[in-house]
Amino acid sequence: MIGSARAVIVGGGIVGTSVAYHLTKLGWRDVVLLEQGSLSGGTTWHAAGLVGQLRSSSNLTRLIRYSVDLYGRLEAETGQSTGWKQCGSVSVARTTERMIQLRRNASVANAYGIEAHVISREEAGRRYPLMRTDDLVGAVWIPGDGKANPADVTQALARGARAGGALLREGVKVTGVRIERGAVAGVETSAGPIATSILVNCAGMWARELGRMSGVTVPLHACEHMYIVTQPIAGVSSDLPVLRDPDGHVYVKEEVGGLLMGGFDPWAKPWGTDRIPDGFSFQTLKEDWEKFEILMTNAVQRLPALESAEVRTFLNGPESFTPDNYFILGEAPEVRRYYVGAGFCSGGIAAAGGAGRALAEWIVDDRPPMDLWQADIRRFAPFHADPRFLRERVSEIVGVHYNIAFPNRELTSGRGVRRSPLHERLRARRAAFGAKMGWERANWFAPEGVEPETVYSFGRQNWFPYAAAEHRAAREAVAVFDQTSFAKLLVQGADAEAVLQRLCANDVGVPAGHIVYTGMLNEQGGYESDLTVTRLAADAYLVVTGSAQGTRDLDWIRRHLPGGAQVTVTDVTDAWAVLGVMGPRSRELLGRVSGADLGNAAFPFGGSREIPIGPATVRASRITYVGELGWELYVPVAEAPGVYDVLWERGGDLGLRDAGYYAMDSLRCEKAYRAWGREVTTEDTPWEAGLGFAVRLDKAIPFIGREALLSRRGQPLAKRLLTFVLEDPAALPWGDEPILRDGRVVGAVTSAAFGHTLGRAVAMGYVREPAGVDERYIETGAFALDVGGERVPARASLAAPYDPRGLRIKS
Ligand SMILES: Cc1cc2nc3c(=O)[nH]c(=O)nc-3n(C[C@H](O)[C@H](O)[C@H](O)COP(=O)(O)OP(=O)(O)OC[C@H]3O[C@@H](n4cnc5c(N)ncnc54)[C@H](O)[C@@H]3O)c2cc1C
Repeated sequence: MIGSARAVIVGGGIVGTSVAYHLTKLGWRDVVLLEQGSLSGGTTWHAAGLVGQLRSSSNLTRLIRYSVDLYGRLEAETGQSTGWKQCGSVSVARTTERMIQLRRNASVANAYGIEAHVISREEAGRRYPLMRTDDLVGAVWIPGDGKANPADVTQALARGARAGGALLREGVKVTGVRIERGAVAGVETSAGPIATSILVNCAGMWARELGRMSGVTVPLHACEHMYIVTQPIAGVSSDLPVLRDPDGHVYVKEEVGGLLMGGFDPWAKPWGTDRIPDGFSFQTLKEDWEKFEILMTNAVQRLPALESAEVRTFLNGPESFTPDNYFILGEAPEVRRYYVGAGFCSGGIAAAGGAGRALAEWIVDDRPPMDLWQADIRRFAPFHADPRFLRERVSEIVGVHYNIAFPNRELTSGRGVRRSPLHERLRARRAAFGAKMGWERANWFAPEGVEPETVYSFGRQNWFPYAAAEHRAAREAVAVFDQTSFAKLLVQGADAEAVLQRLCANDVGVPAGHIVYTGMLNEQGGYESDLTVTRLAADAYLVVTGSAQGTRDLDWIRRHLPGGAQVTVTDVTDAWAVLGVMGPRSRELLGRVSGADLGNAAFPFGGSREIPIGPATVRASRITYVGELGWELYVPVAEAPGVYDVLWERGGDLGLRDAGYYAMDSLRCEKAYRAWGREVTTEDTPWEAGLGFAVRLDKAIPFIGREALLSRRGQPLAKRLLTFVLEDPAALPWGDEPILRDGRVVGAVTSAAFGHTLGRAVAMGYVREPAGVDERYIETGAFALDVGGERVPARASLAAPYDPRGLRIKS
C-alpha cells in the first residue's frame, strides 16, 4: 500500500516513464507511477521506432531534438540500451508539389537548426540503393534523424526514474480520481487509495476514458496502425537511413537485416470507440491485408525487393490520434493539478523525451516551460471528446500525416459542429467554408459559375481574385464579415473592474461604452491572450477573444479570480452573432439602417453602444481588425439573420460585399494587426511585439507581468516583431519562412498574406539580434525571406506595411 505521493503518474508507457524520469531529475523523489499491466505493454512496445525531428513549430521541434539527445545518452547513464541509431532519413517526392513542400521543410529545418539537404533523385538512390528513383522528382536528406527501440527506451527511462527515487508499480490500475474543491486530492486504485495533489494522465488510448471519469476533456481515439517486417534482404544493413515516401503513404526502416514497412493510409480504421477491452496488454489486432494493400502496392513500387521478400511479421496495433494531429499536453482546465500527456498521433517515441521533460517542468513550475500552444490541452472544447466526432475525425487525421501540407488545407470530417445563424444565408451566397474550433466560417465567396471549393496549391489558389475583390470592398466601399465565432465572455459583479485590472495590461477602468484593446500577460510579461474588453456597465464587461482561445482564456481568468471576489464569468459565445461592417462607407450604411448618429463626435473610435437595426437592438462597437472605418455589431443570435438582411436591403448601392477570412487575413497583415498564437505568444512581451501602446504601467492596480515588463523597459530588444513587404510581386509566402538579414537566418515568419492594396505579399515575423533590433539594425541590413528555397528580397520595417497616409506600392 502506498499512502500518499507528491505526484501520481498513470501509465507506464514511454510517456509516463519519461515524466517520472524528468520529475526525479528536477529533484522530486516522492513520485509514484502506476501501470495496470506491464511497462510498455500498451502501445509503446510495438512502435516502429522512427525518430524524425522536424515538426511544424520550432518549439515542438526542440522537444524532439531533446529526445534525440536523451536517447543517445541514456544507456551511459542507466546501463540500459535504447537502441538509438542515428542513421539519417531520406524523404522522397513523386510530384512537383510534394517537392515544393520538401524544399519548404528543408528551409524551415535549417532555420530551426536541423541540418537538412535538398538532394537529387540520383543522390537519393545512392543513399538508399534498394530504391527505385526514376519516377522521383527529388528528395530531402536529414542526417540527424534516426531510430530507437521503444520498449528499451521505456525501460531505460524507468531505470533512471527508479534511480532518482520514483516508485514504479506494475499491475496496479487507477480506477478513480478524488477531486476536492476543483483540484486533485487523490486516486483510487486496484491496490487502494493514494492521497496526492498531482495527477498525470499518461494513459495512452485509455486517457480519454480516465479523463471522462473526472470531467476532463481528453479528445483522442485509437486507430489501427499496421506494418510488416520482412526476413533479411540482401543489401539491407543497419546503416540504411529511414525512408519516407509520403506520396505512396509509406515509411521504411531497417529491422534485423530485413525491412519494417508501414504507413499512413488516407482513411484509417478507428478502433475501441466504446471502450478498450480489459486486460489489453502486449496485444495486437487482427491482420488486415486488404487495408494494407495500398501501402504494399506503393512500397513495392518504391522498393522492388519487397515483392519477393518473405514477411516475418504483420503487426496491427492501436495508437491514439487527436482531432488536429497534435498531441495533448498540460494542465486540464477542468481540474486543478490534473495534467495530461497523451494522444501522440504516432509520434510518441520521437516526442516522449521532450514532452516528458516539458510536462515535468510544467508540473514543478506550475506553468508551461515554453510556448506549447499547438499541443496545449486548452485548445479543445468539450465537443472535441464526443466519440462520434472523434471516430470520424481520427480516421481522416491518420492520412493527414502524409498529405501535402498545402496552405489553408481544411479537414473534411467532423464538420458542421457549430454554425452561425447566418450559415444558410452565406451558403446561399456561395461561401467556401473552413472550420475553426468547430465553427463553420466563410473563407471566401465564389461568384456564380465558380465552385465554392478551395483548390489547393502552393501558388495563388483559385480564390485569389475573389478574395481580392472582397479586400477591395473593405478598403474602398463596405464589406460584411461574419465574425460570430469570436469567443465572448461576460465578466460581471462588483469586483469585475478590480479583477480585470489585475489581469489586463491596459487600463480597463474606463466609462461604460468604451472598448479597451489589451493583453493578458503572464508573470514573465508574455501574452496569455490578446483581446478587447468592452465596459458595458459599472459592474459588467464583455471580453472578446479569438475563436480558438475560448477555453484557454476562460481558464486563465477563472484561475486568477481572487478568493471571495464578487465576480462571475460566463461564456456567452453562442448567444451573440457578430457582423463586422467594415469600410469607408460603413458609416453611411449603418446610418441608413439605424438612424443613429455615427459621426466621429457622437461615436468615436473605441466607442460601443446599443443602436436599433430594424426590430433588433444591437451593440455596435467601433473597432476594426482590417484597418478601416467600421463597426462590429453584436446581435442576439435569433435576430442576426434579420439584421444581415436589412444590411443587404439598404447596402447594395454602396458596393456592399460579403467578405471572408482570407480577405480579412490580407487586410490585417497589411495593417500589421497581430494575431494571438502567431505574433503574440506566451514568449513575447508587448515591448517585443510593438504593442507597448496597450500597456499602462502606472495603473493603481498593478497587472500580472508588470514587474517583468518594468525590468526590461528601455533595454535593447534582442528580439522584435518586424513587418516585411516582398519586392517580387509574384512571390507568395504562407508563414514559417526563414527571415534572412545579409544572407544569415535571423528569424521566421509568423503570418503572411498577399496584400491586395499593396499589390505584393506582406509578412510579419520576429527577428533576433543579441545587441538589439533597432531602426539602425533594420536600415543597415538587406532582408529577404526564404520562400521554398528562393531568397526573395523584402523591405523590413517596424511600421505597418499599409499606411493610408503613406506611400502605396502598386505593381
Ligand atoms: C504500429 C505502430 C507504429 C508506431 N511507430 C512509431 C514510430 O515509428 N515513431 C514514433 O514516434 N511513434 C510511433 N508509434 C506511436 C507510439 O507507439 C505511441 O505514440 C507511444 O507509444 C505512446 O506512448 P504512451 O506512453 O502515450 O502510451 P502507451 O504506451 O499506451 O502507455 C499508456 C499506458 O497506460 C496504462 N494505463 C491505461 N489506463 C491505466 C489505468 N487506469 N491505470 C494504470 N495504467 C493505465 C496502459 O496499460 C499503458 O501501458 C507507433 C504506434 C503504432 C501502433
